[in-house]
Amino acid sequence: MSAATPNDALHKPSNFLRTLIEREVQEGVYAQRPWGGTPGDAAHHAAGGQDPAAVRLRFPPEPNGYLHIGHAKSICLNFGLARDFGGVCHLRFDDTNPEKEEQEYVDAIVEMVKWLGWDWEANGTAHLYYASNYFDFMYRAAEHLIERGLAYVDEQTPDEMRANRGDFTTPGTNSPFRSRTPEENLARFREMRDGKHADGAMVLRAKIDMASPNINLRDPAVYRIRRATHHNTGDKWCIYPMYTYAHPIEDALERISHSICTLEFEDQRPFYDWLLERLAEGGLLAHPLPKQHEFGRLNLSYVITSKRKLKQLVDEGHVCGWDDPRMPTLAGMRRRGYTPASLRKMAEDSGASKTNIWLDYAVLDIALRADLEAIAPRGMAVINPVKLKLTNYDQVFGSATHREPCHAPAHPQRPELGQRQFSLGPELWIEADDFAEVPAKGFFRLFPGNKVRLKYGVIIECTGCEKDASGHITAVTATVIPDTKSGTPGADAVKVKGVITWVGVHEAVATEMRLFDRLFTEAQPDAGGRDFLTVLNPVSKVVQTSYLEPSLASAKAEDKFQFERHGYFVADRLDHQAGSPVFNRIAGLKDGWTK
Ligand code: ATP
Ligand code: MG
Repeated sequence: MSAATPNDALHKPSNFLRTLIEREVQEGVYAQRPWGGTPGDAAHHAAGGQDPAAVRLRFPPEPNGYLHIGHAKSICLNFGLARDFGGVCHLRFDDTNPEKEEQEYVDAIVEMVKWLGWDWEANGTAHLYYASNYFDFMYRAAEHLIERGLAYVDEQTPDEMRANRGDFTTPGTNSPFRSRTPEENLARFREMRDGKHADGAMVLRAKIDMASPNINLRDPAVYRIRRATHHNTGDKWCIYPMYTYAHPIEDALERISHSICTLEFEDQRPFYDWLLERLAEGGLLAHPLPKQHEFGRLNLSYVITSKRKLKQLVDEGHVCGWDDPRMPTLAGMRRRGYTPASLRKMAEDSGASKTNIWLDYAVLDIALRADLEAIAPRGMAVINPVKLKLTNYDQVFGSATHREPCHAPAHPQRPELGQRQFSLGPELWIEADDFAEVPAKGFFRLFPGNKVRLKYGVIIECTGCEKDASGHITAVTATVIPDTKSGTPGADAVKVKGVITWVGVHEAVATEMRLFDRLFTEAQPDAGGRDFLTVLNPVSKVVQTSYLEPSLASAKAEDKFQFERHGYFVADRLDHQAGSPVFNRIAGLKDGWTK
């Protein structure tokens, strides 16, 4: 693996996959495998040298949508195991279905796997593959099965096929076409390939056992006729392999040792093994064959992770695109401000088990805060502003145009980042809810007669507020207590219970502030077949004007900050520009949903 590959935690929590691979590597199960340098059949690999990779894994997305948080789990699991055991992880586009796949998705997937910090380049080779490049082999393998009497062309209608498949209690019924000779089947299959038959008129089926208790072994379809232009192979083919046939072959051609997938494929494993064993017997593939291992899907509360449903949110305009910062896509989470390290940590900590797991979204925010706390520079921002007028400012500081300099560390634990400079003037922006005309019990901030400290500045005493004709508060008023500036000898002379953040009106940087919240109001938006659109959070996005301290004027897109008292924020990677800033709230300082 390349030096850029992240290695976040020295102690890796154990899981059944880690334990299994560790044992197999120790036993040398995969030690004597040749590798032809590129994917290929048994002869191709036999001609190569010893595989420099101890194990091979793969992440095999179908390019029919953007990657989401569930995929991050799978990516980190596969690339992480490869890294930890001296192996290689391939990025393979599982692009055998011509209709739903697009180049846009391919590009977005490549970008996001890289962004997460992973690299498919190893030993001088970029292990980036397309399943559609294996169509020739898949076709050859199908003819091989036919010649050995292990596959046949079935011309039953889809309804007949469904009826004859049986169910959990009834065995299936053999198709009348099942007893055709290999010669007849081969001729028929070639006609399918040559476009002599209509879409859906017939399929090629593996000939296994119509009475098998595992319905997946009741002669599964392996090839279908489909006239569709493929993003890679164009109009070369009008027959396409079924996923369950293509996937094991893809793994075997790439010499994958551990084919890790989610639990719903468990019942497919017998066919996976049946197919690869038959092709190995025929000399097309070589042992050791890939083995499939299933682990539980990762589900996150308040999030949906079905590409189809995410696409619906995009297509129907409920969000502004796949990379909307409220989307659980990796593109959206990146834009929202989540860091690759926080996603990797979430994936690592959630392990791998034999059951599907539900993770509270708050777990991700904990990982995010742990990451950003250490690295994000600090700043002051007033999110919901109201003006504060310091009515004795000119008397205390000599003139209303005087600017009283203040400073604060850019990061409390990182002195090397230096100091932020800002200044006091007669008018400041403060948070509207830092003032109360009539304070509730336990409210220690601004109310008439109370004193608070302006953080890094002076102590002030609130005198009241100004209102417009409709009674709306237009400004809060206060007086400066002289000789109380932070860092001066008089700073501790007056005791206060409250400290508030502020930004000088004379130097405030106005920003568009996007305050995001959960997209759904229910923890399991699509549970029990519920229409998830009925539980969309109507206030998942609030846009308003906020004010930032002057040091933030130089922020660049994707720079992340902790705004004191408020949480973590990021300059929007698409819309933020010097001179017209746009910030997104990533997460608060603590979880606001657990109360
Ligand atoms: P979707 O149902 O959203 O389309 P998928 O599983 O069909 O997801 P693929 O592109 O086929 O999407 O997935 C690529 C890999 O990511 C597969 O190995 C799949 O098992 C894994 N994966 C997808 N979702 C999750 C999840 N929620 N948790 C763990 N792994 C996942
Ligand atoms: Mg899938």
